[in-house]
Amino acid sequence: MNTIQTNRVDFDKCPPCQCGSNLPAQFVCRFRDSCSGLLMYCEDDSCADQHEHRIFTIASVLQLLNKKVSDFKELVKILKGKLVDKYQKYEPIIKFYSECQKNLIEEGQITKDGRKHLYLDKRIDQIDKLSKDVDAYLESIELLQLEYNLMEIMELMETKGKEYESEYEQVSTLSDLNDKLLQEIYPEAIALDYENEDLMNEFTQDNWNTFHKLKNYSIKKELNQKDKRIADLESKVQMILNKLSEQLGL
Ligand SMILES: [Zn+2]
Ligand SMILES: [Zn+2]
Repeated sequence: MNTIQTNRVDFDKCPPCQCGSNLPAQFVCRFRDSCSGLLMYCEDDSCADQHEHRIFTIASVLQLLNKKVSDFKELVKILKGKLVDKYQKYEPIIKFYSECQKNLIEEGQITKDGRKHLYLDKRIDQIDKLSKDVDAYLESIELLQLEYNLMEIMELMETKGKEYESEYEQVSTLSDLNDKLLQEIYPEAIALDYENEDLMNEFTQDNWNTFHKLKNYSIKKELNQKDKRIADLESKVQMILNKLSEQLGL
């Protein structure tokens, strides 16, 4: 939209300055912590002189805020691309592992402590919703920007913006949706011989491949751990034998 890109101030859209000069409030103070002048102010000397700092026009400030929200939207879009857009292919097997995970949690075999993500399908729904919310949020900002409604933009960024950012924080550590991610989130469910006919009937050939691949990996991992435990045990026995022969002077 051209109107948004331009840095020229449209005086018709500026509210009259609250200093009483009746001039358009075309500048914005970006130093609220240290400055005692009005947030939006005019060029009248007595009003503008309150601000002993660089001048920012309303148009440039609106553009800066728009960039901030657009950049955030871009981050959410990247996350969506890594997970939501790849979900369809994995959906049946994720639903299957989630169901198993749910049982394990109910039986107390998995505790929620220290685990950031328990159910990948719920996380993906969350990201999908966040992405739609953020699209609508940017649209609202752009509409308000056309009206030079700085106050409402700031209000929105303070409320919705903060809310969406903290939502993003929760899910931003998720990596690309692939077999490795399933392993990270569902190690116990993968290791179990859990069966669920209804959910398994939905598996595609790809899902079966993933299922067997993850199962193999998990068995190998367990064997390696057993090998390591045996090796540890053997070296302990050897140590005891060595000590014994020392003591016996052998
Ligand atoms: Zn003024
Ligand atoms: Zn100021």
